[in-house]
Amino acid sequence: MSGKEIGFIGLGKMGALMAARLVSAGQSVVIFDTNSAAVSKLEAAGARAAASTREVANRAEIIFASLPTPDVVRAVAIGPEGVAGGSTAKVFIDLSTTGPKVAVQVHRELTENGIVSVDCPVSGGLAGARDGKLTLMVSCDVAHFDELSELLSILGRPVFVGSNPGAGQIMKLANNLLASCALAITAEALVFGVKGGLDPAVMCDIFNMSSGRNTATLDKFPRSVLTGTFDFGFSTGLAYKDVRLCLDEAEALGVPTPVGSAVRSVLAITQSQYGADSDWTSIIRPFEQWAGVEARSKKSEQSL
Ligand code: NAD
Repeated sequence: MSGKEIGFIGLGKMGALMAARLVSAGQSVVIFDTNSAAVSKLEAAGARAAASTREVANRAEIIFASLPTPDVVRAVAIGPEGVAGGSTAKVFIDLSTTGPKVAVQVHRELTENGIVSVDCPVSGGLAGARDGKLTLMVSCDVAHFDELSELLSILGRPVFVGSNPGAGQIMKLANNLLASCALAITAEALVFGVKGGLDPAVMCDIFNMSSGRNTATLDKFPRSVLTGTFDFGFSTGLAYKDVRLCLDEAEALGVPTPVGSAVRSVLAITQSQYGADSDWTSIIRPFEQWAGVEARSKKSEQSL
C-alpha cells in the first residue's frame, strides 16, 4: 500500500516531529498546515509543501493528520475541500485526539469515498514523537493494521485496539483522563506539602520511591514545574478538550465520572486564568495561588 508520497497535515508540536521522522526514514513527505511558518520549517528538513489539504490528497495515497480539535479533523477529512475528495488518497491515518464520535463519522464518510480510515491517536508527548517512541492506539481492519505496521513503526509502537471505528479514541481518552488526574492530584499534594514546609523536589524524589509515584511525579513535575519552565509541550486547552471529550462520552455511555469531573473543573480554571495556550503543567498554578506558595526548587535544577 506504499504510494509515491506520504501526506502529512498538521505540523504543530507533535505533527512537526512525526513528519520529520518520516522524512528521516527516507519517505517522500508532502505536507500542509494553515501556519506557513510550520510548513517552511519542515520544507527545510526535506519535506515538500502543498498549498492545501486537497493538494495533499491529490498527491499522496497515505495521509497522516495531527490536528488540534474534532471540528478541524472533520473539516480536513470530510469537509468540502477535505481528503475525501482527493484523487490519490487511499488511506487516512488520524493521529489526533478527536473522540470516537468524529472518528466514527470520518470512518463512515471516508469508506463511502473508497478511502481506508485508520483511527490512530498517540501517547508519549514530544519526546516520544521526536524519538519514534510513541504508543499508537490503532483501530481499523486487522488486514490494514498488518499492512501499515511497518510505516507506523517509524513513529513508535503500533498497538491494535480493535476493529470498531473509534476504539482507538476511547482508549486514548481513558489514558488522558488518567494522565490529567495524575497531574491535578500531584499539584494538590505538592502544594499541600510546600505549604507544610517541605521542599517540592524532595517530595517528588520520595513520591518516586513510594506508592504515590505516577507520570506527573516521574517526569512532568521535575522537568517543567519544579524548574518553573512550564514547557512540557502539551497545552491546557488540548488537555481540557480531551477530558471534556472523555466525560461527554462517559455520560453518553451512562458511566459516572465524579473524579474526572473535578479534574475537568481544575482544567477549566487553569484555562480561564492562564489561557488555552498555557502549558498543561500550569495546572499547579491555581493551587499555588490559593495556598500562597510556589512549588519550585533549586535542587530539581541541579538534579536534572
Ligand atoms: P498543536 O496545536 O501544536 O498543532 C496543531 C497544528 O494543526 C497547528 O500547526 C495548526 O496550525 C494546524 N492546523 C489547525 N487547523 C488546520 C487545518 N485546517 N489544516 C491544516 N493544519 C491545521 O497541537 P499538538 O500539541 O501538536 O497536538 C496535535 C494533536 O495531537 C491534538 O489532537 C492533541 O490532542 C494530540 N496529542 C498531543 C500531544 C502533545 O504532547 N502535544 C500528545 C499526544 C496527542
